[in-house]
Amino acid sequence: MKFAFVHVGLFVSALLASAQAPLSRLERVTMFGAEYVRLDDWARANGGQCKWTIPKREARAVTPAGTLAVEVDARKVTLKGVHVWLSAPVVLRGASAWVATADFASTIHPLLFPTRAGAARPIKTIVLDPGHGGRDPGNKEGKRFEKTYTLQLAKEVRDLLTKAGFKVHLTRSWDTSVELNSRPALARQRGGDLFVSLHFNSADGPGAAAAKGAEVYCVTPANAYSTNDRGERGHRETQPGNRHDSRNVQLAYQIQKALVTRAGCEDRGVKRARFAVLRYAEMPAVLIEAAFMTNLADARKIYDPAQRRVLAQSIADGIAAYKRMVEQ
Ligand SMILES: [Zn+2]
Repeated sequence: MKFAFVHVGLFVSALLASAQAPLSRLERVTMFGAEYVRLDDWARANGGQCKWTIPKREARAVTPAGTLAVEVDARKVTLKGVHVWLSAPVVLRGASAWVATADFASTIHPLLFPTRAGAARPIKTIVLDPGHGGRDPGNKEGKRFEKTYTLQLAKEVRDLLTKAGFKVHLTRSWDTSVELNSRPALARQRGGDLFVSLHFNSADGPGAAAAKGAEVYCVTPANAYSTNDRGERGHRETQPGNRHDSRNVQLAYQIQKALVTRAGCEDRGVKRARFAVLRYAEMPAVLIEAAFMTNLADARKIYDPAQRRVLAQSIADGIAAYKRMVEQ
């Protein structure tokens, strides 16, 4: 009897949480090889409204589930105050802004209307992956190697997560080489419910020192464009990591939000990439570029233990927020 009651409860809460209007009911047009819907139509269908904040350039759709701000010709949008990259640019057609249906399905809806359904088991075991190691130093700035600080950060995040009641494994605990493909494999062997890869960014070329901020990657959905697509070939078909597309973007969003609001990182947004560690992950997985080694203010966040602890706390907070989001 109790069993049946629990299931009815889950069913009802899943329905309430996913009460978005189906995209199939909206007028759709194909542009540049992708299917689009009007942002106004989408907003109205979801109980809200859409207005231009700058005529024919910037629009804001306000709905009970949250606000989506877009810019014509851009892929970066603001969703409930955090930057998120879509795969296809927003298009101006007639007097309306149009957004690709695939981006609603893969990115906007999972973030605005998260469902509890599909959370097979509680989030308990986190696998942290300190980027690089051993023969592979990662980015180098003078005598400083990325691999040193990703390991420091991983240990600090581990301690915080352990204190918060999680079980935590690291893909490496020393300065050792670990192949990219074996990182997600290790995560599976250790029973990881989530996989979180830690990295620091670097920029080169003119203006490099100005590049700063945090970005969190999750795997690109099948047949979509990655954020930094440079004529990317192959791996367009469904990858193991695509099994968790909705969870991936929810985890990336919660960590990005925490890095921006708690650690005060510049918001470079939730991005998409087909990195090996994300493609092969069999659990929800993200890769965090927490700060730039090549920017003066960002570098302090990496090298100064007190500031790095704030990064660590933000990442732990983001993971805890994700857990609440999917388990509530
Ligand atoms: Zn790296």
